[in-house]
Amino acid sequence: TCCLLESGVRCVRPAGNACYNKRIQKTVQQKRLKFVVDPGVSQMYICEHHKNMIQNYRNQQHQKSRDNNNHNDNNNSHNNRDINFLMLPLSLLRRYKRNFKLISKPGCNKAQLADIVARHFSKIQVDQKDVLTCFLYTCKSNRSQ
Ligand SMILES: [Zn+2]
Repeated sequence: TCCLLESGVRCVRPAGNACYNKRIQKTVQQKRLKFVVDPGVSQMYICEHHKNMIQNYRNQQHQKSRDNNNHNDNNNSHNNRDINFLMLPLSLLRRYKRNFKLISKPGCNKAQLADIVARHFSKIQVDQKDVLTCFLYTCKSNRSQ
């Protein structure tokens, strides 16, 4: 039978061909799973049920780290480095400011305005490139009217 003790109770499922190896041991430790090998057993085989369970835990972990990586990639590509707000026309910055009801000091210069817009821009959680594209489009269509 399976060599694992789950919360102190010996698993009664028949053992599969999977061995309780170092990799599984590591996952169990990392995930703080309540599995221990029964000290009284001579073989280290675990049942399909526990093998799958531990594999799922490991996959979740991989998925998570992959998601984190993707998340970071997105952040980097949407970084303000992509857009130099000082290069945008002042009218556009003013429109942006008005559009998002940003507060600026009266009579602030373009650099300050660009800074405010850039800061707001980095905060918004939606796809920033889409917003900017949409925003530029709106400005253009407003102008042509
Ligand atoms: Zn088991």
